[in-house]
Amino acid sequence: MLNLVISGAPGCGKGTQSALIIEKYHLIHFSTGELLRTEINLGTPLGIEAGEYINKGNLVPDEMIIDIITNAIHNLCKTCPGIIFDGFPRTVEQAEALEKLMNGLGIPVSAMIELKVPDRDLMNRLLIRGETSGRTDDNLETIKKRLDVFKSKTAPVTDYYSSLDKYHSIDGVGTLDEVFERICDVLDTEML
Ligand code: AMP
Repeated sequence: MLNLVISGAPGCGKGTQSALIIEKYHLIHFSTGELLRTEINLGTPLGIEAGEYINKGNLVPDEMIIDIITNAIHNLCKTCPGIIFDGFPRTVEQAEALEKLMNGLGIPVSAMIELKVPDRDLMNRLLIRGETSGRTDDNLETIKKRLDVFKSKTAPVTDYYSSLDKYHSIDGVGTLDEVFERICDVLDTEML
């Protein structure tokens, strides 16, 4: 199985690139952001609680996310070609929990890829996306907060995967196809 973690600051293109990766490598998509937005739209207690963090640009607490992931993973098909984790793990605690969970199931995380994009480009991309996304967290104030949270909480996750020899940095600047080609180069090496 090819079990991938795709990471990067908000607006780095991980959602778009995930869609291309899924199509080519037939992976199951796992986006904690999308799972949370579904809960918010359904107005569930979990969604209401999560919404309070999301709308301020904060991370949803680790325990909540780890519970969601643990339940969802057990419902996944273990014989699928693989899973792509998009927007998860976002803290070292989540990464450690995922490692334990996947190793325990005998389907370890194969690699983590991080899309690197300069801050200025991220801001522009997110503000443009905000005009059409309908996402309540795509506004200037929340975007700034999300970028700060990424640097303080999520950037250390790369060190964690480096220490496991699973980390790959990808230049996320360029056309959609150019970035995708860089990702495929890494994945095709990973799958050999
Ligand atoms: P995303 O769609 O991945 O950009 O996520 C949108 C928002 O959902 C984030 O800014 C967080 O508030 C929350 N969120 C998504 N995934 C996680 C996670 N793994 N841990 C904590 N909060 C998360």
